[in-house]
Amino acid sequence: MNKFEEMGVDPIINRGLVDLGYENPMPVQELAIPILLNSEKDLLALAQTGTGKTAAFGIPILQNVDISKKITQALILSPTRELCMQIAGDLADYSKYKKGLNVLAVYGGSSIDTQIRGLKRGAHVVVATPGRMLDLIRRKQTNFSSVTTVVLDEADEMLNMGFRDELNGILAETPENKRTCLFSATMPKEIAGMARKYMNDPEEITVGTKNKGADNVSHIYYMVSNKDRYKALKRIADMNPNINGIVFCRTRNNTQEVAELLIQDGYSADSLHGDLSQAQRDYVMQKFRRKNLRMLVATDVAARGIDVSDLTHIINYELPDDPETYIHRSGRTGRAGKKGISIALVGPRKRHSIKHIENKLGKQFTRATIPTGKEVCEKQLLHLVDRVNKVEINEELIGEYLPDVFKKLENLDREAVIKHFVSLEFNRFLDYYQDASDIVAPEENGRNRNGRGQSHASKPGDVRLFINLGKMDKLTVPGLIGLINDATRRKNIPIGKIDLLKNFSFFEVNEAHVDLLITSFKKVHYKGRKVNIEVSDKAPSYNQRPSRRGGHSGGGRHSGGRPNYGGGKPSGGGGRPSRRRSF
Ligand code: AMP
Repeated sequence: MNKFEEMGVDPIINRGLVDLGYENPMPVQELAIPILLNSEKDLLALAQTGTGKTAAFGIPILQNVDISKKITQALILSPTRELCMQIAGDLADYSKYKKGLNVLAVYGGSSIDTQIRGLKRGAHVVVATPGRMLDLIRRKQTNFSSVTTVVLDEADEMLNMGFRDELNGILAETPENKRTCLFSATMPKEIAGMARKYMNDPEEITVGTKNKGADNVSHIYYMVSNKDRYKALKRIADMNPNINGIVFCRTRNNTQEVAELLIQDGYSADSLHGDLSQAQRDYVMQKFRRKNLRMLVATDVAARGIDVSDLTHIINYELPDDPETYIHRSGRTGRAGKKGISIALVGPRKRHSIKHIENKLGKQFTRATIPTGKEVCEKQLLHLVDRVNKVEINEELIGEYLPDVFKKLENLDREAVIKHFVSLEFNRFLDYYQDASDIVAPEENGRNRNGRGQSHASKPGDVRLFINLGKMDKLTVPGLIGLINDATRRKNIPIGKIDLLKNFSFFEVNEAHVDLLITSFKKVHYKGRKVNIEVSDKAPSYNQRPSRRGGHSGGGRHSGGRPNYGGGKPSGGGGRPSRRRSF
């Protein structure tokens, strides 16, 4: 009898757990499963993503399902389609030996008719996003009269995403005497209010604020000026040829831009954010799960709850405002006893954010310097040599071609052959990095560590902002400054360089004013058009509008999930050497 069975878990469910390698319950499971199996009490759980909460509520639900009744007995609500699919998949795994048990995932962006058929067939457990669930209720396609358990998973996120009305509507449709379980990573007032409204004297449990893997995660930060941020990301990727990780950005726009740049530069990368269609998101996630994609560039909301194992790195391309969000992000790596690395690229005025995170995390960051071109080359060369050493040789297949190959190479001795092969793979790479200057950390006072000032025109700490107005809108430099002054109620924010372009423009302000500016412009209209301001990491592209919506890079760009290197990319400034990538 293992620990799960000792807790009262049915052997038939336990067999599914054993197949998944679940030997011992995680803390949230140890606390929640006995409550849910042995009492009828409601449960209020403060637990983060990655703590094992799916099994904590899933196992008792599955165990209590009466298969002979072909009707919905449990409803699980979760904020995103990806999370929904993940939970439904996990529940199906846990119950694979409980034959005849049906779990149905119900979410937007997918055929509603198929989901209606699934409901009609009598799904025992329904895992749903709130929007689609309410839609189905309104179409009178549900029968929740036998629901005994409702789970609100990631409840804080569902509220953040504006699902309050949907949740009210759905809960009103379920029986009074059901059990309600609420799982939330944070406990803001709204959640406490929800608990009061919907729960009856719940048992409360809290699982440590840290994800389980956090102890295995090393935290590293690099100071970079904004103009060097993208270059620094590439160096980090090049320095880690086996990287398999998530790159977090703050906005959808930045997520899309960074992913597009990485793809252009030959990296195995793609984006995941809310502007993508469901089919695009599924496609990207499938590639990432299958490890056909090395870097997933994502927003926090899109990546929320996604459980992909074996991630080597979490890269905070931009730090979040809330240290808790950083902790969530970094908890995606270092799971299941593996080591993980969480990297933060920190702008000159954001050094204090590291201190805040350290306090919350109870762990120190290590400050590192961006690798030099020479270091990257060394690493990549040795990685290539390792791969040569380890490559599997299929004597049978290549045997017949070898005599001709040997003949062609007979004029070269062993050393020369090695040199030729290495050069073939690396010449462009070496050329690129030979000319690449070091990326030097900016300091608070605008001087770098060598005491030299920054060479770029913009001031250190300046951030380049994108505004969706340009010369076509008859915008002028004084006009833009006036607009900013009006929007910020004459706070006289100093404005740096302004680039007025045809359809849109860029202007620079100190990092300290960015949040104020973005907030101030939230409700501003100019000549009837809603004004939109966003941080731009990219140098302005003078003949095209930065890709904002759609234009997704997922489909068709690479074949078989691999980047297409053949054409060669410009290596000037931001480009990277065009060579066959090592992953
Ligand atoms: P969750 O918070 O439910 O997304 O779970 C986080 C990760 O922990 C998932 O990869 C689960 O498969 C894994 N997990 C959950 N419970 C256990 C367990 N008892 N033993 C080992 N791994 C587990």
